[in-house]
Amino acid sequence: MENTKCDAIVLSAKDYKDYDKLLTIFSALFGKQNVVLKGCKRPQAKQRFAGQPFFFGEFMIAKGRGYDVVAQVEPKKSFIDLTIDYDVYLDASLALKAIDKTCLSQNSERPFLLLLTYLTVLEKHLESSSLLTSKFYVELLNLLGFGINVDSCISCGGQLNDCVYFDYSQNSFVCKNCFRYNSIKVSASVFELIKTIKTNKFLKLLQLPLKNEDIAVAKKLICTIFDRIIT
Ligand SMILES: [Zn+2]
Repeated sequence: MENTKCDAIVLSAKDYKDYDKLLTIFSALFGKQNVVLKGCKRPQAKQRFAGQPFFFGEFMIAKGRGYDVVAQVEPKKSFIDLTIDYDVYLDASLALKAIDKTCLSQNSERPFLLLLTYLTVLEKHLESSSLLTSKFYVELLNLLGFGINVDSCISCGGQLNDCVYFDYSQNSFVCKNCFRYNSIKVSASVFELIKTIKTNKFLKLLQLPLKNEDIAVAKKLICTIFDRIIT
């Protein structure tokens, strides 16, 4: 059986047998895959570095009798700086989990590029983790076919202007005529920010004058929308 080769990011790594790790890796070509990294827990193991979440490298995979096995791996990036700051580490770890939960073992070019872009920009801009993480979830929701609707009220279809509510039961925005007891008011500046996050790319967002308080609220709301759709 021929080996397959792919650029992949390690989503998770679990101890497996005495010296091995069972990795879930994610690539554009094959989506999610479980593979065994043999002997990586031995102190002198050459491939130790690849047994960590966030590791990005070129994997050569051989067919195994049970799990497929990593025959060879060449590092491209470890994203080790993401572990410096606890909040950033938490944001990025949850992003890996979100990919793990929502993506399948099939061609995943766009989610893979999204994850790689997010981690690359985040590593250089740790201070903007909340903003970049919000953008990550907005884009992932889009790719999954659950794009956040900021154009019209989910109940009446009317326009959403500066008086907007978030309806928890419908997991969407509603206008002032349609809000009910399970809706919360969303400030005009937070709603504007969510629209900005939707329409601008990662790097462009970093250049805009955005308020940290608004970013914190927007991130909470976006993560709530994601969690309610996915779980
Ligand atoms: Zn309405």
